[in-house]
Amino acid sequence: MEQELKSLQQEALSAISSASDLNALNDVRVKYLGKKGSLTSILRGMGKLNPEERPRVGQMVNTARKELEDAISAKQTELKQAELANRLATEKIDVTLPGRRQALGHLHPLTVTLNNIKNIFTSMGYSIAEGPQIESDYFNFEALNLPKDHPARDMQDSFYITEDILLRSQTSPVQARTMQSHEPNSPIRIIAPGHVYRRDDYDATHSPMFTQVEGLCIDKNISFADLKGTLITFLQQMFGEDVKVRFRPSFFPFTEPSAEVDISCVMCKGKGCRVCKGTGWLEILGAGMVHPHVLEMSGYDPKQVSGFAFGMGVERIAMLAYGIDDLRLFYDNDVRFLRQF
Ligand SMILES: [Zn+2]
Repeated sequence: MEQELKSLQQEALSAISSASDLNALNDVRVKYLGKKGSLTSILRGMGKLNPEERPRVGQMVNTARKELEDAISAKQTELKQAELANRLATEKIDVTLPGRRQALGHLHPLTVTLNNIKNIFTSMGYSIAEGPQIESDYFNFEALNLPKDHPARDMQDSFYITEDILLRSQTSPVQARTMQSHEPNSPIRIIAPGHVYRRDDYDATHSPMFTQVEGLCIDKNISFADLKGTLITFLQQMFGEDVKVRFRPSFFPFTEPSAEVDISCVMCKGKGCRVCKGTGWLEILGAGMVHPHVLEMSGYDPKQVSGFAFGMGVERIAMLAYGIDDLRLFYDNDVRFLRQF
C-alpha cells in the first residue's frame, strides 16, 4: 500500500505540473482528491490493514493529500498570473487609433421653428406657459365661450376619453388656466406652445396631432392696434422684413372681433403660384380681441382690462419657412429628410 501511495503521488504531481490551464488543473484535483478520487479510495481501503498499521498509513495519506493540495494551489496561482500576463500582452490599446466619434444629431425642423417663435415672443416680453394635453371639457370648451351644444364645437371633432375628459383640441385651455391662476385683472403676456389633437385625416396637409402656439396679452387699454403691431412684428421677424400682412374678418367663439391673418406668399412673393393657389396670399394664423365673456369666465373685468389672443400651427409655419409640401414628412423620422435641416 505504501508503494501504491508513492506512485499515485508521483503521478498526481506530474499531472499537476503539466496542467495547461485552470480547467485542466481542476480536473486533476477531482481525479485525485475528489470524493471518488484515487487518494480517497486508498483511505477507504485502510479498513483491510492491521490495526497497528492504520495510524502510520493514515498519517502518510494525510501528508500526501496536503502535499498535493499545496501543489495545486501553487499551480493555480501560476496559471492565473500567466493568464493575466497573456491578456496584458495581447489586449494592447493602440493610442494612435482615431477615437470613435459619437454621431451628433441636431434639432428637428419643428423644434427649430418653435424655438424661433418662442425667441421672437420672449424678446417682446412674453413668457411661456404650458398645460396638460388631457384636458377637461370645461377648460377646452366652456371656459372659452363654447358651452355644450354650441355649433362651433363641430369645427373641432375631438377625441373624448370620457364624457368630460378629452385630448385638448387647442392650446387655448392654457389661456383660461393662466387667467384663473392670476389675480383678477392682473396683466398677462404668454404664449402657450404644445401638441393638440383633432379627429382628422392624415394627409399632406392634415394630421390628427399637430403643434400649436397660442398667445394671450391682457392689460389695461389693449386695443386691436396692439394686436396688429404685435403680429406684424412677429411675422416680419419670422418670414422677413419685406413680408406683407393682411387681416380679414373672421369668427372664433372666444374672440370678438376676430380675424384671419394672411402673409404675402413666401414662395412667389405675391405673384401667385401653386402654394398660394394663385392668390399671392397664405393664411398663417387666427387672432382677435378676447371676448368679454371669456374674460368674465376667468374672473377678469372686461370694463377694466382688455386683451387679444392669437393661434397658429407650427407645422404650417415650418412648411412655409422650409418649403416643405407634405406635413407627414415631419413625423416619418426619415433621416434622409431630417438631415437636410
Ligand atoms: Zn405663391
